[in-house]
Amino acid sequence: MRNVLITGGCGFIGSNFVRHLNKMNEFRTIILDKLTYAGSLNNLNEISKKKYEFIKGDICDEKLVNNLFKNYKFSAVFHFAAESHVDRSIDGPKDFIQTNIVGTYNLLEASRNLYKENEDDFKFIHVSTDEVYGNLAKGAYFKETTPYAPSSPYSASKASSDHLVRSWGKTFRLPVIVTNCSNNYGAYQFPEKLIPLMIINCLSWKNLPVYGDGKNIRDWLHVSDHCSAIEEVYRNGMNNETYNIGGNNEIKNIDIVNTICDILDELRPSKKGSYKNLIEYVQDRPGHDYRYAIDSSKIQTELNWKPKETFYSGIRKTIKWYIDNESWWKVIQNERYNQKRLGLKNL
Ligand code: NAD
Repeated sequence: MRNVLITGGCGFIGSNFVRHLNKMNEFRTIILDKLTYAGSLNNLNEISKKKYEFIKGDICDEKLVNNLFKNYKFSAVFHFAAESHVDRSIDGPKDFIQTNIVGTYNLLEASRNLYKENEDDFKFIHVSTDEVYGNLAKGAYFKETTPYAPSSPYSASKASSDHLVRSWGKTFRLPVIVTNCSNNYGAYQFPEKLIPLMIINCLSWKNLPVYGDGKNIRDWLHVSDHCSAIEEVYRNGMNNETYNIGGNNEIKNIDIVNTICDILDELRPSKKGSYKNLIEYVQDRPGHDYRYAIDSSKIQTELNWKPKETFYSGIRKTIKWYIDNESWWKVIQNERYNQKRLGLKNL
């Protein structure tokens, strides 16, 4: 079995990817995760502990990272670990610079040293975001060649990490691939993000805070489709290339919220009335990009990958998951996230 490192494997997408890989019985999965507010071993609940090794630690810890690479001689690194919430990056950018930039640099250096010894079997897959491309005009789409124009400290730190990864590929010939994907949703997403926040607020009969006029547009990708895309990129992607991954689901935020309310009105009707009564428009996010939309034709044509979920199939599954897994999100609500508005502190 080949050893693969999954950084951030206790977060939302990382834990879904661990589940995805473990179905294959082909890899020995080593997870490195600091367990910040966003990470939890509860996200690995359904996976047998025999199926992975967990190391609690920081990707910024050079000594720890170097030792891991020496001991395990990874065949692949799937780099998910990051500070990932835009609003938090506005309140406190420092952790974003540290983890997303310095942490990525550490992993690249450890990879470079390992690759010198084992040139036949190594790949570094860097998981990044479409937010690096910045605000998009109507009718346009992000392509892999779109210039970077990040708007938030989060997206700027991710853009910086993408540049580092590419440069390690070009300068040191490290086999690297960068993926930039749209907004993910699905099981185990920390409830500060739009979709789980709206679902749990409905289930708790709390207001549904919609930023600005609610007309900002995002493309939505079900996390299971993202995981299959990353696997495809790992197996068949070309080194030194970038692949955009999107779900072909461009939707306004307010339409997402209305859809969640409609589905919950059907699945879990409240005696208090429709969940739409809870919608409340609140102060917009500073620097809020109006529209993101991904052109994922490259991965579709070159690697034959396609998303399986439509937004309407994926969102129903996701809502059902949050209904069935109340104990998972109640722990977060009670212990780690008081649902206060973030991202306005420094204004
Ligand atoms: P997440 O916030 O849910 O999880 C991040 C994980 O990284 C957590 O388990 C956390 O404990 C861990 N972590 C943070 N700092 C660390 C450090 N210094 N050392 C070790 N571990 C650390 O994030 P996510 O939503 O699962 O996103 C995963 C990756 O995908 C990120 O790189 C993010 O930028 C990217 N991405 C996410 C989305 C999305 O919609 N969620 C979209 C595009 C790209």
